[in-house]
Amino acid sequence: MSTDLGAYIAAAAVAAVAAVTLVARRVPSARSSEPGAETARFVEPEPGVRYLQCDELRCGHMTYPHRPQPGGTWVCANCGTVKGGTS
Ligand SMILES: [Zn+2]
Repeated sequence: MSTDLGAYIAAAAVAAVAAVTLVARRVPSARSSEPGAETARFVEPEPGVRYLQCDELRCGHMTYPHRPQPGGTWVCANCGTVKGGTS
């Protein structure tokens, strides 16, 4: 019984890897057909931009580029939240 379950899990894992590989291969063509529709694309970093962790719920503690603001603060390029400064 347990060996059958193990074989099933192994087969499911192989199928999942194949599915991910298939999706990964199709991503470049999907991006080129929908310019501007994606949220995460490769862009050249702007001068002075820092990649900081954003604690906003929308950004989910992920690292996003932050643009420098007057006064030494940084504004998140993804959600617009200002962080840093004197406080
Ligand atoms: Zn953010």
